[in-house]
Amino acid sequence: MSSATATAPELEESETAVETARRQLERAAAHLDVDPGIIERLKHPDKVHQVSIPLQRDTGETEVYTGFRAQHDSVRGPFKGGLRYHPDVSAEECVGLAMWMTWKCAVMDIPFGGGKGGVVVDPKTLSDGEKERLTRRFAEELRDVIGPMRDIPAPDMGTDPQTMAWFMDAYSMQEGETIPGVVTGKPPVIGGSRGREEAPGRSVGIVAREAIDYYGWELEETTVAVQGFGSVGANAARYLDDRGATVVAVSDVDGAVYDPDGLDTRDVEGHDERPGMVSGYDAPETLSNEELLLLDVDVLVPAAVGNVLTAANANDVRARMIVEGANGPTTTGADAIFEERGIRVIPDILANAGGVTVSYFEWLQDINRRAWSLERVNDELETEMLKAWNAVRDVVEERGVTWRDAAYVVALSRVAEAHEARGLWP
Ligand code: NAD
Repeated sequence: MSSATATAPELEESETAVETARRQLERAAAHLDVDPGIIERLKHPDKVHQVSIPLQRDTGETEVYTGFRAQHDSVRGPFKGGLRYHPDVSAEECVGLAMWMTWKCAVMDIPFGGGKGGVVVDPKTLSDGEKERLTRRFAEELRDVIGPMRDIPAPDMGTDPQTMAWFMDAYSMQEGETIPGVVTGKPPVIGGSRGREEAPGRSVGIVAREAIDYYGWELEETTVAVQGFGSVGANAARYLDDRGATVVAVSDVDGAVYDPDGLDTRDVEGHDERPGMVSGYDAPETLSNEELLLLDVDVLVPAAVGNVLTAANANDVRARMIVEGANGPTTTGADAIFEERGIRVIPDILANAGGVTVSYFEWLQDINRRAWSLERVNDELETEMLKAWNAVRDVVEERGVTWRDAAYVVALSRVAEAHEARGLWP
C-alpha cells in the first residue's frame, strides 16, 4: 500500500448518479472500438415517464405525488429495475440508476435492459392503507409502459414485497388475468422466488470469496468490515462469516460495533429484524460509520448508501480490497485514489448483481408457472456469479484495467454488440 497521499484527478464529490454513470460509460468506451453513435445513444435514456399520482389521505384530503419510470436501454430484453419511495427521487436519479441496471444485467448476461423508477414521497409519513392506494394508482398510471415483456419493476428503497404484491394485483385486475411476471421481489405465495431476499448479499459474499482466492489470501485469515447490516450487508457478512472469514465490524444508520476477534454475525440482529439492534449490540467497542470505513481490515463492504467513499476519505481507507454491496458507494474521485493506491474495488454492478439475477429466476418461474427449490436458486446463482466473475477477471488480466473498468467493458461490449446487430430503426 502506498503511504503517499494520492490525488483525485476529477474531484467532483457532489456528482449525481447520472454523471457518475456517464463517466463510467466513457471510461469503458475508451477501451473498446464501439461506434460513437452507440455510445452517445447510451448516455441518454430511451424514455423517462413522469406521472402524477393523486392520493386520498386518511384525513379525506387529496394530495398529488410525482412518480417516474426511467427506461434506459432495452436492446437485450425488457427494462428491469426497482421502484423507490423516497423524498429525493428525481427523474435524473432514476436515469442514472437505470443506466446502472443496463450494465448490471449485461455483465450478468441476463436478457434484460435497465430501468428504474419511484415516487417522490417519504413512505414513513404514509399509513399502510395510503401506501397501498398510492401503489395501486402508480401501477395504473404506468400500466401502458410496463409489463412482463416490456418493463419489470422490483422493490428498492422504501418499497418491499408487499408493495410489489399490490402493484402486481393492480396491474392484473386491469388486464383481466393474473400476471405475476410484471414485477419481481413478490412474496413467494404469489410467485416470488425463494432466496430472492438473500440473493444480493449472497452474491457479494460469493464475489468476495472469489476475489480473496484470486489474490491468494485465505478466507480463514481475512478480516471484513461491513457498513450497513441490512438486507445486503447482513447476508454478505453471514455468508463470509459462515465460511471462516472474521467479520470485525458491522453498522446500521446509528453507528458501528467492533470486535477485533470477530463478531458472531448470526447473533447480531439485522436492521430490519429490530431497528437499532446493530449499534446497540454488546461488543467490545463502538465506532461511528465513518470510523468503520477507515478500519485496518482486508475487505471493506460498503452496503448501506451511495457516495460514502469520496475523495475526502479515500486516502484514509486502510482496507486492501473494497467489495461494493451498495449501489454507487464510491465516487469517481475516490475510485481514482483507490486505483493509485492499489486498493482493488470490486464494483457494485458485479458484486450485488445476485439481486437482479434471482429476479430473473423469479420471472422465469412466473412465466413458466413453476417454482424452484431454494437449493436450485442458490446453485444457479452460484453458477451465474462464477460465469460473470470469470468474464470480468479475464478482462482484468487481458487489459490490466481495474475491476470496475473490466466489468463495464464486459457489459458495454455486450450491449454495443446487440445494438450493432439490431441496427438503427427506421
Ligand atoms: P436495508 O434498508 O435493508 O439496509 C440498509 C442498512 O444501511 C441498514 O442497516 C441501515 O441502518 C444502514 N444505513 C442506512 N443509512 C445509512 C447511513 N447513512 N450510514 C450508514 N448506514 C446506513 O437496505 P438494503 O436492501 O440492504 O440496501 C443497501 C444498499 O444495497 C443500497 O444501496 C441498495 O440500493 C443496494 N442494493 C440492494 C439490493 C436489494 O435487493 N436489497 C440489491 C442490490 C443493491
